[in-house]
Amino acid sequence: MSSLFPALLPAATAAPATADRPALRFGERSLTYAELAAAAGGTAARIRAAGRVAVWATPAMETAVAVVAALLAGVPAVPLNPKSGDKELAHILSDSEPSLVLAAPDSRLPPALAALERVDVDVDATGPVPEDHAGDDDPALVVYTSGTTGPPKGAVIPRRALTTTLDALADAWQWTGDDVLVHGLPLFHVHGLVLGVLGPLRRGGAVRHLGRFSTEGAARELNDGATMLFGVPTMYHRIAEALPGDPELTKALAGARLLVSGSAALPVHDHERIATATGRRVIERYGMTETLMNTSVRADGEPRAGTVGVPLPGVELRLVEDDGTPIAEADGESVGEIQVRGANLFTEYLNRPDATAAAFTGDGFFRTGDMAVRDPDGYVRIVGRKATDLIKSGGYKIGAGEIENALLEHPGVREAAVTGEPDPDLGERIVAWIVPADPAAPPTLDALAGHVAGRLAPHKRPRVLRLLDTLPRNDMGKIMKRALSHD
Ligand code: ATP
Ligand code: MG
Repeated sequence: MSSLFPALLPAATAAPATADRPALRFGERSLTYAELAAAAGGTAARIRAAGRVAVWATPAMETAVAVVAALLAGVPAVPLNPKSGDKELAHILSDSEPSLVLAAPDSRLPPALAALERVDVDVDATGPVPEDHAGDDDPALVVYTSGTTGPPKGAVIPRRALTTTLDALADAWQWTGDDVLVHGLPLFHVHGLVLGVLGPLRRGGAVRHLGRFSTEGAARELNDGATMLFGVPTMYHRIAEALPGDPELTKALAGARLLVSGSAALPVHDHERIATATGRRVIERYGMTETLMNTSVRADGEPRAGTVGVPLPGVELRLVEDDGTPIAEADGESVGEIQVRGANLFTEYLNRPDATAAAFTGDGFFRTGDMAVRDPDGYVRIVGRKATDLIKSGGYKIGAGEIENALLEHPGVREAAVTGEPDPDLGERIVAWIVPADPAAPPTLDALAGHVAGRLAPHKRPRVLRLLDTLPRNDMGKIMKRALSHD
């Protein structure tokens, strides 16, 4: 019997041991491994001649089947965010030039996709699994970065990067075929697609997708046999808010094998509230489209609030000063850019040889643009992004993240973002953008500055307060600081 993509998804072979085990569930629809192999085989047969295929990545079974089919056919898949505007879609389409778009039959595609051949994914159609001819260096996915710091760039991800990252995580998290993941993330970024769908499939485990994340849905699945929850900080924030009055949710989290957060910094305040209510510490992992996963904490290790753990097996990580000198000390204070090297890395930005060349050092490390310190025991503590989170004020380099964490501990603060703006004396002054807990009685600048000064060095206190109704966030809950600074 031919196996389904043995190199990437060994667990998804139609071998008797896994054939009848659950693979994917979206709402009322579920597929066993044998059914997934047949459905993906059916779609693979229709796209084999394509150069690249776009996938209209709604949170639906069809998206998962489409991506597995593309992997089977050896055709790179370009997941599209269905919430993207026409301009962004037009940019991605002209950049990636897909031959066709795979979509669920009930999806309405926007005008930007009108000129593209459409292939509806039929989850009930079946076909044989094609021979797997793809090599480790062959592109498996082209994933566009989130566009947090500039227009999205198409990262070409080879198959080797997928297997490397998923196996490193399986090792660190002791991830097995008995694990069942509760999934509430979109499917067009590496978090939701690579970790959330391909991860469990590689191990022979199962995915239950909530469609849309809710604390009730997560509690229900975790109390009904699911073992892991992968989320972004905004999800854990909602959990932290809901826990005090919700015994079902408390029981669910207390019983989970693994709670993981990533894609942005998990506020210390939320980490601690969840730990206090459930006795469980959320594991943070740090990754990005270009490198997949870089750091985490082992399932039997000690997650620590405000840190993203240690480099995963096979990932070389260093902190580097502005002039390129690597920082030797793990002193918890010396701030440098995180640079990584390993088989987890992407190959290039599509059509951007200049950006690709600029992203790598001469010795093959990728410049992440993220700044961090290393604690004496090796844990990496992300300070923020070089472009938007590093404030140069009064001769100091100050990371926005620790000030945001301090502000979030103030009872009058619901959400917080910190930026720098030009200041004649200080170079830059610290601005606190606050969504107040009670809009009728927002905290004052004095109160917040005093609160921060009581926790951090005095030069880290905010000098300006700006009140907002909401913070601008993208679909992963990342704060779009570009939008703040341009207000
Ligand atoms: P763009 O590159 O287009 O500006 P982006 O960097 O947000 O967008 P992604 O590749 O989706 O696109 O996100 C990776 C970034 O997310 C990392 O570089 C880092 O800044 C941030 N990130 C991911 N995980 C964490 C974490 N655990 N803590 C802090 N930041 C994180
Ligand atoms: Mg980036």
